[in-house]
Amino acid sequence: MNSNKSGKLNKVEGCSGCDAHCCRHVALAIDKPSCKRDYDQLRWYLLHKNIWISIDHEGDWLLEFRTDCINIEENHCGDYPNRPRICREYPSADQICERRTELKSYTHLFTNVRELEDYLDDKGIDWRWKSAESGRLLN
Ligand code: SF4
Ligand code: SF4
Repeated sequence: MNSNKSGKLNKVEGCSGCDAHCCRHVALAIDKPSCKRDYDQLRWYLLHKNIWISIDHEGDWLLEFRTDCINIEENHCGDYPNRPRICREYPSADQICERRTELKSYTHLFTNVRELEDYLDDKGIDWRWKSAESGRLLN
């Protein structure tokens, strides 16, 4: 999916008692990494605070910004009539509200650079980037 996948709070039955879980991040689809430059780019993302990467059940890779919507007020939407369309449509038929299922929306989750590196190592992927000038490993 190439659009925002951040889940959004509404006040339909079932949301009461939730901590506005789906209003606390933004997720954007990114290309599946296929070369050392791609892996290194993902490592760079994960070196930043509050940035996660996940792989969903379709094998799509997502860049997640763990940041609260400014409209959250006491775990509810503080501007409900004006909430964006994506908020109104969530969860769509192909989305999972994580507060209403035991299933996770992802198959893999990387919350820091080490978790990604371990994943790539486990897959036998040679992700280590060498400097063209010196041959020195950059990591
Ligand atoms: S995570 Fe689910 S239950 Fe919680 S606010 Fe969003 S849609 Fe409602
Ligand atoms: S606008 Fe409202 S429903 Fe949408 S993410 Fe923000 S708090 Fe949630």
